[in-house]
Amino acid sequence: MTTWIIAADERVASLVEAAHTIGGEAVAVTVGAVAVTGVDKVVQIEAGEGVPAEALAPQVVAAVPAAAGDVVLAANRPAERVLAAAVAASLNAPILNGLVSLQAQSAELAVYGGIGLESVAFAGPVVAILDGGLACEGEAVAAETITGQGFTARVVATEGSDVAEVNLAAAKRIVAAGRGFKAEEDLELARGLCSALGAELACSRPLAEGTNWLARDRYVGVSGQNVSPDVYLAVGISGQVQHTAGMNNSKVVIAINDDEKAPIFQFADYGVVGDLYTVLPALTAELG
Ligand SMILES: Cc1cc2nc3c(=O)[nH]c(=O)nc-3n(C[C@H](O)[C@H](O)[C@H](O)COP(=O)(O)OP(=O)(O)OC[C@H]3O[C@@H](n4cnc5c(N)ncnc54)[C@H](O)[C@@H]3O)c2cc1C
Repeated sequence: MTTWIIAADERVASLVEAAHTIGGEAVAVTVGAVAVTGVDKVVQIEAGEGVPAEALAPQVVAAVPAAAGDVVLAANRPAERVLAAAVAASLNAPILNGLVSLQAQSAELAVYGGIGLESVAFAGPVVAILDGGLACEGEAVAAETITGQGFTARVVATEGSDVAEVNLAAAKRIVAAGRGFKAEEDLELARGLCSALGAELACSRPLAEGTNWLARDRYVGVSGQNVSPDVYLAVGISGQVQHTAGMNNSKVVIAINDDEKAPIFQFADYGVVGDLYTVLPALTAELG
């Protein structure tokens, strides 16, 4: 039994860990020179200058001859999702999304926005999409290189976004702001707390897809980011299921809300019933 890992990027430590949980041989198929550790074998597909990873789908498909009982893992990122879909189509295999756990020939998937669990069993090969996690640590496994003809696509220009990228999935501490904040400039209170705590700033969906005060990669929930930090501080967030589905694997949850009946308190290990405009400055001052 083999677990195949498709890697267009070095942030695949969670996939390597999942491969170890499944057991058997672990083979990484990388697009270009991507350092992967902790696997038995690395097959590197030569990527020419300016060739996007997606254009190498034919080579990735050829390099992943998964058989019954095998699992193909890909990180939940745009290029890897495309490559995973190409492999699934060629293998006539199902794609598993929303993975909670994965073993040889069975998996648990989160359904209905994370409030339910679905158990699935599979006999043939499957393709599973999960958070890639951090970059692998340690010495990279020496790669065997293959070439081949991909699709004729080439990147002719790139333009940087003026929005800084954030990797919330890797954050150990998160301060998440919700609609309890009355104005964009009030988010400075949350930023101050982030600095004092060494935390990343996140938010509920309305702040990213409504007021647009924060970038979309900062909102947590069923249609946003899935996070599992050591500490998740929810400030002025009511705790609707669409939000909590993305943070209910946090180790410690602290909620600050002026409504003692807010559902977020059901998820909280520690709660402060109070006005965030009073609580945040006091907390930041105490930590600073
Ligand atoms: C299909 C679908 C997908 C969705 N996906 C997501 C998702 O991925 N992520 C997500 O977050 N949402 C998502 N939503 C939206 C979700 O249903 C909620 O509307 C949203 O999470 C509410 O955000 P909120 O808690 O910030 O705001 P609210 O629900 O308005 O809560 C604001 C909270 O702040 C408190 N508050 C107000 N003033 C203060 C103060 N001064 N001090 C302290 N507390 C205060 C209030 O008591 C209240 O509890 C989705 C909705 C749909 C329909």
